[in-house]
Amino acid sequence: MTQNKYLKTFSIFKDLGHLIYPSACLACENELSRTENHVCSICDNDLVRTSFHLFNEPTETDKRFWGRIQLKRTYSLFYYKKGATIQKVLFNLKYKNDSAIGEYFGREIGKSIIEIDDFKTADAIIPIPLHYKKEFIRGYNQSEALAKGLSEILNVPVKSNYTRRTEHTETQTKKSRFQRWDNVSSVFSIHKSVKGLKHIIIIDDVITTGSTMEALITSIKTVAPSIEVSVVTLAIA
Ligand SMILES: [Zn+2]
Repeated sequence: MTQNKYLKTFSIFKDLGHLIYPSACLACENELSRTENHVCSICDNDLVRTSFHLFNEPTETDKRFWGRIQLKRTYSLFYYKKGATIQKVLFNLKYKNDSAIGEYFGREIGKSIIEIDDFKTADAIIPIPLHYKKEFIRGYNQSEALAKGLSEILNVPVKSNYTRRTEHTETQTKKSRFQRWDNVSSVFSIHKSVKGLKHIIIIDDVITTGSTMEALITSIKTVAPSIEVSVVTLAIA
């Protein structure tokens, strides 16, 4: 059996499994009721929504990019808090290889921002790409799953093949912003089709320093200097 066929068969069994076994809450692992999605109502209460869509003044996500890069609009749905439900959601989103989690939370982001005029001109959603080896190991790209969910609500297409990550980067958690910038500045290649876009929404699971995001946007703007860029994340740390 080829690898592809094997993976396909595996995923069919996984889908069947979801039907046979009731799903568990991503955070506390208690069984979910029919009306709950991925997170039970008790853990959902522990998710802290930013309400940035109701803000007129600059948000923390905006400020993350001040003095670094010009953005049209930013949005983050939740505040990150260590040890809280959001940390478990992000972990599962990244490693559980279940696209439905990302698509669900992508739709949740979409429902929060659908009324924001700044996002209405967007003509593409671009997930932060993973290196293909990393994507192969994990099984999928969590940002792409978020992008699919967001796309369903905003009715804007996902263009995941317009950007590529060309190098493996080291684990970046213990490095300063400036070291990181050097590390990521040449890791993206951008397809020239981005020149045909006017306003893109870049999406990622969580924003910390914003360095990876900044590096990707800088690379895109090198190819398409007049493109407008917005940034959307599930959480802000
Ligand atoms: Zn729970």
